[in-house]
Amino acid sequence: MSAVETIHVDGAWRAAASGAQREVLDPADASTLALVAEGGTEETDAAVAAARRAFDSGPWPRTPVAERAALLRRVAELLQRDREEIALVESRDTGKTLEEGRVDVDCVTDAFRYFADLVVNESGGRVVDAGSPDIHSVVVHEPVGVCALITPWNYPLLQASWKIAPALAAGNTFVIKPSEVTPLSTVELMRLLVEAGLPAGVGNLVTGAGDPVGARLAEHPQVDLVSFTGGLASGTRVMKAAADSVKKVALELGGKNPNVVFADACATDEGFDTAVDQALNAAFIHSGQVCSAGSRLIVEESVADRFVAELARRAERIRLGRGTEKGVECGPLVSAAQLEKTEGYVASALAEGARLRCGGRRPEPSAERPATGYFYLPTVIEGCHREMRVVREETFGPILTVETFRTEDEAIALANDTEYGLAGAVWSADTARARRIAARLRHGTVWINDFHPYLPQAEWGGFGKSGIGRELGPTGLAEYREAKHVYENLRPRPVRWFAG
Ligand code: NAD
Repeated sequence: MSAVETIHVDGAWRAAASGAQREVLDPADASTLALVAEGGTEETDAAVAAARRAFDSGPWPRTPVAERAALLRRVAELLQRDREEIALVESRDTGKTLEEGRVDVDCVTDAFRYFADLVVNESGGRVVDAGSPDIHSVVVHEPVGVCALITPWNYPLLQASWKIAPALAAGNTFVIKPSEVTPLSTVELMRLLVEAGLPAGVGNLVTGAGDPVGARLAEHPQVDLVSFTGGLASGTRVMKAAADSVKKVALELGGKNPNVVFADACATDEGFDTAVDQALNAAFIHSGQVCSAGSRLIVEESVADRFVAELARRAERIRLGRGTEKGVECGPLVSAAQLEKTEGYVASALAEGARLRCGGRRPEPSAERPATGYFYLPTVIEGCHREMRVVREETFGPILTVETFRTEDEAIALANDTEYGLAGAVWSADTARARRIAARLRHGTVWINDFHPYLPQAEWGGFGKSGIGRELGPTGLAEYREAKHVYENLRPRPVRWFAG
């Protein structure tokens, strides 16, 4: 495959018909990392047509579940075989550390294995008691059809896999469009799917821009389902575009995730150290470019000064640099646009009266942090309140805002005061209190005395404007299935509703 043949349609790799290419930049120094084909409407339509044919007349939807599961397991094995190579691609493309890239490959491997097992266990129909021995009634599950899968730049491999694995397990065909900012690991994943034996046309990939490629997929009348992960603005456009053809829509959008810390969690030195350490991790891993980033610290007033002082001290020591360098703890932001956006949020917070505790600027350049890279220092801002833009909007950068509370009710009100509802955490040594609060948080994932872990067996997704539907878990498979009720009358007779 030459560098520009990154479009995969009907089993063949190809370049864009126009010959157009896009430069993919290394966020650590803004150099050109790779070229990818810049697909457009023509390639998108060809990919949808291939997926349609493969669904309507190809073997995949009718392939026995055990064989589909076996293919997913082969993909998992290939991911582990190529773990280092793929982790490196992901690290260089997104800027995240190599170790984070490895963790992503392992999580993705788990997801393929999980959906392989799940679909085998859940492939039988459900017999329904119709109240008569003459009726045989069963609910079976069938694939939805052609799925358009649109993914963001922050976890490209992971997001692609959370969609591809259940879509294939359920017997669908798909067209995936990765983010134009970080398309490289999705190209690698497609290569592994082909090697694992995916029949031509079942999996198709179009590299290109959100508009036209993503927009065309969302509106395409031959697409049955669109599963989108990305920002609120694009997600809203996708939903509108999908409405005309009434396709199924699944949206995984942003978050503005609270991390609520009670003073009792910090009563011991160990408790304090753990809560601070995890607050740091919650906010700054992958430079805060995580949909579930704990970007809002909501800390009990009595412990706030001590907590924020220690947090800022440790944030200042985070080692920034090229993600592939040994010892680097945090990479650059993904793009110049993301860097500018981060700078804008910090400026607006300060203009609105917040106080900078640390960071708030680009770092001094160094050998491991070239001046041309998109680096920004981990930033802690205190004196924040909920009217500030930096508290309300998803910054998707290394910015942690601090708000304080005195009572449980106040903590809950602050934590729920967001249009999003993706994830949140509560830290308390009092189990009853922690569970009481968890029960009242309006977020799709709630951590008690932890932050960030997720399980392939447990649903992931959000309340409110964080999206529609769930990925992972049984619901993550159900998204890609239609339920069909087959009602069989074993002794048909006239009903005589009409007398004549
Ligand atoms: P984005 O919305 O800019 O882009 C996401 C994808 O949509 C890209 O592939 C893009 O090309 C495409 N796109 C853009 N415009 C489109 C259109 N009109 N029609 C169809 N597709 C279009 O988001 P991003 O900046 O790549 O990613 C960051 C966002 O993703 C953040 O908001 C983050 O919270 C969210 N995210 C959510 C989750 C989750 O699980 N909820 C996970 C990761 C990222």
